[in-house]
Amino acid sequence: MTEKKKIKVAFPHMGTIYIAWSAILNKIGIEAYVPPYTSKKTLSLGTKHSPEAICLPYKLILGNFIEAIEGGTDYVAMITSPGICRLGEYGGCIDSALKDMGYETKYIEMRLYDGIKGMYDFLKRVSGKNDPVLFLRAINLGIRKVFVLDRMESRLSYLRAREIKSGEAEKLYNRALKFIKDANSTRALQKAEKEALALMNQCQIDEKREVLRVDLTGEIYIVCDEFSNQNIMRELGKMGVEVRKSLTVGSFLRDAIIPKAFKKEETHLERAEKLAKPYLMRDIGGDALECVSDVVYAEQRGIDGIIHVSPFTCMPEIMSQNIFPAMREDCDIPILPLIMDEQTGKAGYITRLEAFVDLMRRKKRKLAMANQKKD
Ligand code: SF4
Repeated sequence: MTEKKKIKVAFPHMGTIYIAWSAILNKIGIEAYVPPYTSKKTLSLGTKHSPEAICLPYKLILGNFIEAIEGGTDYVAMITSPGICRLGEYGGCIDSALKDMGYETKYIEMRLYDGIKGMYDFLKRVSGKNDPVLFLRAINLGIRKVFVLDRMESRLSYLRAREIKSGEAEKLYNRALKFIKDANSTRALQKAEKEALALMNQCQIDEKREVLRVDLTGEIYIVCDEFSNQNIMRELGKMGVEVRKSLTVGSFLRDAIIPKAFKKEETHLERAEKLAKPYLMRDIGGDALECVSDVVYAEQRGIDGIIHVSPFTCMPEIMSQNIFPAMREDCDIPILPLIMDEQTGKAGYITRLEAFVDLMRRKKRKLAMANQKKD
């Protein structure tokens, strides 16, 4: 008897989120089709079929979908949200762009702000099943993987800024990811996280190195996607900077998906509503409210600097970048705004990062000397 062909579903890339998606889909008997990681080819495919002034994430997502369809996926799927920015329009535009190109692959959406129910309905549609126990197990595993991946990335950032042999931390991290990919139950995931961290901790580090601490904020896709942010965390790590992402998929899930009863601490959005208030009174779309509050939060914790990354033409982030100068009166923290698009060249970008690191280092040393004199 021939085995029934599994349905293939592809999601666009954004950092390591494909690991969580794959876990959810595989758990319910669907084949997760992982498109090739975003590359220049992806960008050029997406750009060719996109309106010129649309934001960068749209072009990259469309490029991922084209590559997934060419690779043989049955569905392409993405999350959507109602919203003030263009994200609310992505779905309709992508669907018609794919149809215009003559593709018959089905486009399917997961409504994010419907929380767990949105995820459940999505799984029901793609699988044709209605198995609450199986679906909730799958969602639980996927969400837990997101948090584990966030913790591993933080550890990577710590190690990378202090590693003795350049590139060792990332090599171990890439090997450790395999443990997380292979875990197919929550119990197996707990074991996998321990093994992954133990492997990463084999990296030899210099604990005494003078390390700068930087928060990375901005539009969530650009913050999380290494291709579009030109691997900013790696570049800063090489300069001895430990980077903490202010926006992560995990922080986003805490706000959008996880029911209130399961939230132990204040979420990013809850904090943002409090801290951003003197400068921005309401949500203006995208991640602007969070970004403005992240400057205050970084300053309160004595972080050495904050970098804000955003895509060219992103309205919410243009607004937040225009608020930063007014914040300087209250927040004495160096801020570097970086706007990314398909034209952003690597050399100029690295020069800006180096200059920023230099500025933070001088400020830190000056402060340390002033404190010494006081003592
Ligand atoms: S937040 Fe900015 S980049 Fe992201 S979808 Fe909205 S407009 Fe586009």
